[in-house]
Amino acid sequence: MVFINCIMQVNGLKDRAQDLRKSFIDSLEEDIRDFLINEAELHTYDDLTKVNPVTPSTVLKCLQARYSAKVFYTHAGCTLVALNPFQPIPDLYSLDVMREYHSAPQPQEFKPHIFIVAEEAYRNVQGQVEPMNQSLVYSGESGAGKTWTSRCLMKYYATVAASSQKCQDTVEKIERRVLGSNPIMEAFGNACTLRNSNSSRFGKYIQLQLNGSQLLVGASVQTFLLEKTRVAFQAPNERNFHIFYQMMKGATGKQRLEWMLPLDQDFAWLPHAEKTLEGKYCTSRMCLLKHEKRNLRRHLACVDYCSLSLFMLCAGFLQKTADLLQVPLDELQSCLTVRTLRAGKQNVLKLCSQSECSVRRDCLAKVIYAQLFDWLVTFINNSMCADRSMWCNFIGLLDVYGFECFLLNNLEQLCINYANEKLQQHFVAHYLKAQQEEYVTEGLQWSFIRYQDNQGCLDLIEGSPSSIFSLLNEECRLNRASDAKQFCVRLQKELSHNASISWDKFSKQPHFTVAHYADKVSYQIEGMMEKNKDPVPPELISLLQNSQDSLLHSLFADGDHESEGLRGHSKVVTVISKFRNSLESLMKILHSTTPHYTRCIKPNPDCRPLTFKREEVITQLEACGIVETINISARCTDCNFFGLFQLFCKCGLPIPIFDVLNVVLKRRASNSTLSPDDNNNMVHCGRTKVFLTHSLLEMLEVHRNRV
Ligand code: ADP
Ligand code: MG
Repeated sequence: MVFINCIMQVNGLKDRAQDLRKSFIDSLEEDIRDFLINEAELHTYDDLTKVNPVTPSTVLKCLQARYSAKVFYTHAGCTLVALNPFQPIPDLYSLDVMREYHSAPQPQEFKPHIFIVAEEAYRNVQGQVEPMNQSLVYSGESGAGKTWTSRCLMKYYATVAASSQKCQDTVEKIERRVLGSNPIMEAFGNACTLRNSNSSRFGKYIQLQLNGSQLLVGASVQTFLLEKTRVAFQAPNERNFHIFYQMMKGATGKQRLEWMLPLDQDFAWLPHAEKTLEGKYCTSRMCLLKHEKRNLRRHLACVDYCSLSLFMLCAGFLQKTADLLQVPLDELQSCLTVRTLRAGKQNVLKLCSQSECSVRRDCLAKVIYAQLFDWLVTFINNSMCADRSMWCNFIGLLDVYGFECFLLNNLEQLCINYANEKLQQHFVAHYLKAQQEEYVTEGLQWSFIRYQDNQGCLDLIEGSPSSIFSLLNEECRLNRASDAKQFCVRLQKELSHNASISWDKFSKQPHFTVAHYADKVSYQIEGMMEKNKDPVPPELISLLQNSQDSLLHSLFADGDHESEGLRGHSKVVTVISKFRNSLESLMKILHSTTPHYTRCIKPNPDCRPLTFKREEVITQLEACGIVETINISARCTDCNFFGLFQLFCKCGLPIPIFDVLNVVLKRRASNSTLSPDDNNNMVHCGRTKVFLTHSLLEMLEVHRNRV
């Protein structure tokens, strides 16, 4: 049973109880009216906790009414719901609006806006007792508006943290760099997908570093799980990373010569190149040294070049690739076509099949791109990050992919959904804790909130001794040819005791289904082990290590990237292990900060402006557990105690209301702590607030409707 729906101030109770008797009859009608939901005014409910009763359908109605009235932000108790308008809304994010929210004594009294959350975090960061780092977390499916929100927040902080500034120069520089890093990262990490024409294919956590005077002095960024397979493979009607198209479009004649870019070639890995983005390279906005820029572009050109998927058959292309990579042609050729096996003490060379060659070619492109991306992130960090002595606190902005459930799901979705599962756990734990603390302050000892706990699902995915992750990793470590069917049997044997996993009897494919907090997702096992291992032939790594090109050489010189190892059992750092480690360090940071959650909602699947599809939205509301969130934080701040009291009387409910009041007054006088049995189970009186159960509230509803 979930409690707390009504919290009422009972300060000055005694005096006002007397007044109440007098004004009881007069105001009765008015108060009861206040309790009724007024459909015509639904759009004016700026907090979903005011919707009564809180059900998916009333919440949906309210959001739809607001969307039609072009109101895109709504509080949901402790979180903010952001509906994507899919069109620019003039003046919603202007400098003036930023300043208005920033300078308001009580921004939360303004219309709901992402700037309220931003400002709250900004004020909290300098906390009165002790400063506290803040995290702004936005979740939602692809195209819901997370990256937009992230940009918006960066602009907000760049504006407010620069406004009262003495050393304008530094801040402007930092501001430019922080904001300027965005388009570069997006060029390399975003792509056009079916769901979003500018979809981020990596997760990121940006820390904005503030000094003791609350000024922005630097920033750093941490990235997660770049979808590097996109370099070599895109689903039908999707595209490769933006940067390739920008290069194709923007290269000058001289650069084309230098990178050997043909004008008229069809790049197999660059589908829909005709839709190319306008604009110059983003790299020109970055503070790169001249030779670094040149190097970077050249590497991209060779990643690009690998995209000439026929190059295996065409010596000319292979030569160009070797030139761009600055490696000997014959070595490149043998790396791509010959495999070195260890037999006893000897190395045996084996010619690869055509499909094996293609895998190697794709692998070469992916590994270069992934290293290049990491290098870029490090480079951006070096250019924006302030010296540790310069900053005291940070505000972190977390933009990760939302929960995913496609027709076919594999390791990528498992990782993404696992991350969302972790974030959900963090969210619930944080807010429950806050709520629990409120009860303690109120002198109430019991803990009575039940909330969907996703620990079982997390145990299934990452627990020990046996979990999906541990079994997958073990399979990779054994380094044997993996068989999906066998693995499926193993999962069934070892994990079927966990209620969060199941198998569809009618499915012919080896798979497993996980009951995530948001929805059930079936994952196909075929290919999962290979993806987890993500093997890079050691020959390719040593080839790149010996490149004459200084950047390429340095990308691979430190040897800290995993490769199969000639003996086949070198340390395998699996994709899962890496992802889990980086997520763990993120969670540690999140736990050390005060979080603020925003739920971004995509109102229709086609990104059409101002179009609200109910079924689309309800699925997302369910996926982020919005109704439960409202229930955790529901508080009818509008209904004062006396209003409710009148309702009790009017309904003739058998609630000994004056007894309750007496208990409250007595307890306040003695300041003692109430035990669960001190009053009936439906009403709990704190020092200053009264908590009601849901069932009592429902009862009131029924009675009210009869009145
Ligand atoms: P996500 O990062 O969640 O996948 P994006 O932030 O890239 O989604 O948003 C997708 C698109 O929706 C953006 O390119 C932009 O056109 C539009 N959009 C998102 N939020 C807003 C907003 N608040 N106002 C106007 N357009 C928006
Ligand atoms: Mg995004």
